[in-house]
Amino acid sequence: MVTLAGASLRTQSVRDRGEALALDADRVVVARDEIDMHALPQDRREDESIVVVGVLADEIDAPGCVGSRHGYILTVPPTTGRAALERAEQLPRDQLDSLRREWWEKRTYVYVTPGEELVKRALAGFPDDVRALAGRCRILRPEARSGGGYYSDRNEIELAAGVETYEGLHQVELSACHELFHYVCWNDRRYRADEDQNFPYLRRAVRESRKLLPAFPRYRDWVTGSFLRQGDHANPVEYFADIPTNFRDVAELPGPIRAHFAPLIAGSPLPYDLSRSPDWPVVPAEVTLETFQRWLAGRE
Ligand SMILES: [Zn+2]
Repeated sequence: MVTLAGASLRTQSVRDRGEALALDADRVVVARDEIDMHALPQDRREDESIVVVGVLADEIDAPGCVGSRHGYILTVPPTTGRAALERAEQLPRDQLDSLRREWWEKRTYVYVTPGEELVKRALAGFPDDVRALAGRCRILRPEARSGGGYYSDRNEIELAAGVETYEGLHQVELSACHELFHYVCWNDRRYRADEDQNFPYLRRAVRESRKLLPAFPRYRDWVTGSFLRQGDHANPVEYFADIPTNFRDVAELPGPIRAHFAPLIAGSPLPYDLSRSPDWPVVPAEVTLETFQRWLAGRE
């Protein structure tokens, strides 16, 4: 035990899993072999895995030195790990980058938000019924630096334990939000009906919005400058998850798109019944990814 800043801290070897408290200080990180990891890159050996739950917040101001000088990592409560990350993220970019490089050499996860807490954080501000539905989704935090996804066969989400440490505390909430809206699309009876029909109502909203983009510059810049640059990934499923994640104010969305998503973002009622067959002609050539992307870009 050492005492620093008035707090007693237990030191432990980085690589010794047998050390008291070595693994039970934070059960948030799920061992790689505990779950199906096919979606995440296998970029390291099992024997390299370690679990680190915190670093000394007081050392963050000495970039590159967190924990590493001592050859061990100090176990501190997870909330302190979060505070340490908040402070690290205020460092100049190059210092933060070198800190992250050093952390990754030790496979350090400075702070991993527990799945249940992450769901709450990611859904803050969304309507009650959306939070109630998506709040039932489990988020697993596998040992990996990045990556994740929603698995409809298991109806749960995996989000790499490294997202906070290596991408940021804000990014982990955005990533979780995106995955949770995949869950919503699959589990909300209304929107699932649209997906089961190959999104006719969503496609129509996009088509009817194609001439309205100039009046909604933030949406236009996002859709053309960010979303459409993903190539094949810029499809209706991903679009559905990205709109609530990126637009918390429905006034920033063109009317038809706003109407389609407002129930999820602002709690307004849907103006149409998504379970009904379209009462307009659906041309096969218009149900292609190419057409969807052309409409998104504001073209005919
Ligand atoms: Zn996605």
